[in-house]
Amino acid sequence: MNGKVWFVGAGPGAPDLITVRGARLLAEAGAILYTGSLVAETVLEWASPDCEIADSKSMDLQQVTAWLLEQAQRHATVVRLQTGDPTLYGVFAELARPLDHAGIPVGIVSGVSSAMASAAAAGECLTLPEITQTVIFTRLSERTQMPERESLTALAAHGCTLCIFLSIERIEAVVEHLTAAGWHGTAPVVIVHKATWPDEELILRGTLDDIAMQCRVARIDRQALILVSPALGARAWTDAQPSKLYDAAFPRRFRPAS
Ligand code: SAH
Repeated sequence: MNGKVWFVGAGPGAPDLITVRGARLLAEAGAILYTGSLVAETVLEWASPDCEIADSKSMDLQQVTAWLLEQAQRHATVVRLQTGDPTLYGVFAELARPLDHAGIPVGIVSGVSSAMASAAAAGECLTLPEITQTVIFTRLSERTQMPERESLTALAAHGCTLCIFLSIERIEAVVEHLTAAGWHGTAPVVIVHKATWPDEELILRGTLDDIAMQCRVARIDRQALILVSPALGARAWTDAQPSKLYDAAFPRRFRPAS
């Protein structure tokens, strides 16, 4: 028998932030492979009691592939559970290639990315009318080489919102790139550690000048998202102009101008 392998987004951590479709597949799955260090184990509460559950924390890519191939021979539904959304900073293509080659059907179920969950946890919006309308998802280059045009300095020069993944352990370098791109030392920065993880979420609010020190003091050096944006803290602005979106004089598709 050939089952189908689903790459399911577990969401950022809270077990009720997986999608209904993802939870249904976990309940249906004969086998689930999850990333122990990243996926909150509470999400596995959706799995059926007789499901075979394995942690890929200590497996290499070849072992993960072999596990998925083998389980797909035995179960109709196999789930590879990823943090957040499976299409961001995972190894989907590398894992799907051998499955495609073996003729095993593959599907992806979206998840709530930690970028969205971090903004929500901090009570912030990533876009703000007339201030910034663009969001860049990126990371510092490290072992994963990045094209020069995608260096953090080059991207930060746009002045729009940045959601920086996988870089908290090098927060000082992040600050250097932003400074080189022209961001002021007083620019607001929000760090969200383990967004939505029950009892573990931690939010730091600072500026480019003090955020690295705050991270050191709070000992945050992994599983955190760095949010930098001219829209941060907008709720507290007292001199903000009302947005055109709800301006009575501004015609919208479903609402004539008054
Ligand atoms: N696919 C995932 C990202 C995986 S890469 C997603 O869509 O969110 C792992 C990085 O994601 C971490 O280094 C961290 O920057 C971020 N991350 C994952 N879970 C997080 C969480 N609960 N809170 C904050 N950042 C998180």
